[in-house]
This record gives sequence, C-alpha cells and structure tokens, in this order.
Amino acid sequence: MINMQLTFEESMERAKEILDSANQIVALLGVGVVMECGALNYLNNEVIYRIEDTYHRSPDEIMSTGFYSARADRFFQYYKEEYLADRCKPNETFMALKKLDDEGRLKACITTNTHGLEKEVGIRKVIELYGSRNVNWCTKCGKRFLVDYILNSKGVPVCDECYNPIRPGIRLYGEMIRNDVMTEAANACQEADALIVLGTNFYDSMVRFAINHYRGDKLILISKHEHFRDKSADIVIHEEVKEILPKLVLDK
Ligand SMILES: [Zn+2]
Repeated sequence: MINMQLTFEESMERAKEILDSANQIVALLGVGVVMECGALNYLNNEVIYRIEDTYHRSPDEIMSTGFYSARADRFFQYYKEEYLADRCKPNETFMALKKLDDEGRLKACITTNTHGLEKEVGIRKVIELYGSRNVNWCTKCGKRFLVDYILNSKGVPVCDECYNPIRPGIRLYGEMIRNDVMTEAANACQEADALIVLGTNFYDSMVRFAINHYRGDKLILISKHEHFRDKSADIVIHEEVKEILPKLVLDK
C-alpha cells in the first residue's frame, strides 16, 4: 500500500515492524551506501572535472570496454591510481545487514557496488551485479588475483603463470551484466517478503529491475537524496542509511 502521509516517526515504526517480522529480506545497495563509508562519487561534477583534467577523458569513457581494449596501459594507470585507490571500510549499515544475516533473515544482498564490503563483513549471500574489484583474472588461464597484485604490478598486470594480461573483475561500460547474475537477483527479489533499497533511488535501472520482480508490499527505501519516483515505495525515509538502518535493526 502506498502511503505518503506517514510522518518520519510513523515511517520508522512501520519499517521496524516490517523488518522485525520479515524472514526473507532482500537488500539492494546503491552507491549512496559506499559513499557514506567514504567512497568517491563518480557522478559528482568536481570528481569528473578533476579526472578529465588529469586523464583527458571522463571516468565513464576510461572505464569502458572500448578504452580498455584500445589503451590497456592508460586504463590500468587510471584503474590503479583512482579506482582501486578509492578504498573504504564497512560502516554501521553493513553491521546491521550482517545482523540480519546472522539471524538467518537476509535472503540476499544485491549490490551495484564493487568494493566488496558486503563480503568483507561476512554476509553469506551477496550478488555483485557489476562484479568485484577483489576478483581480477587472467584472460588466458583464468587464475584469480587480488587487488594488491594489480596495485603492485607495473603497467598492464600480467599473470604470474602464463604471462597473459589480467583483466579487472568488474563490469566495464559497454559490457552486459552476466545472465546468471541477473537471474539470481531476479529470483531473490521474487522470493523476498521484504525488499529494502538502500542508498539509491527508483531512477536506477537496477532498482526498477528488482522492483519488477518483487511481489510483496513491503518495499522500504532509505536514501539521503530524494527522487520523485521514490513515492512508489511503501515506506520512504530520506536520511543517511547509516543513521537509519542500524536504528531499525540493531536497537532492540
Ligand atoms: Zn594465466
């Protein structure tokens, strides 16, 4: 049921009731969640200008399959200096999600972030739609490499066994999200009894994808930044996720 008349307190109360009684919770995490952990926002104009100044291309252009194929050296310069250098640590939001997982009530954590914070705190079922920066692999033999191996390599990183180039385990612009990953995410949403959308909004195509597969009426959106489409959620709370989710989950 859509109800935009709820006050903040009523929304909090209702969201708490929903999360307390749900047993198949799916959380969908957007960029807002990692920004609250200190990650850079690549949609921020200042960040974009700085990167264009330094690398003479926009972040989106550099992180594209075309640029990666044509200029692997320049790609990896950026990837190491900017993308991998953008490190952050899990905050209270992740502790709250971990608690739901420990209670056996978190069905899945679907994320559009590549920092790997969900796995870092030990959440068991993580669906990384855009891949992970922690998984890089050899294009020839498939051997996997951690971030530090990439950071410590000179130029284009190569496999220590077969000397072929390593590619990053994230989705580049121009690449499709893997089918099996999309199916997994769709199935999780279909079976969810509550869906919490965190740090993103209904403008995001992945959020719309998830919602299209969710059949329930317990859709909670928590995001600092408002978007006019947000009203499609059953409960909307426009605050920082790290302020709200712990109150809903950790305060008993
Ligand atoms: Zn190899």
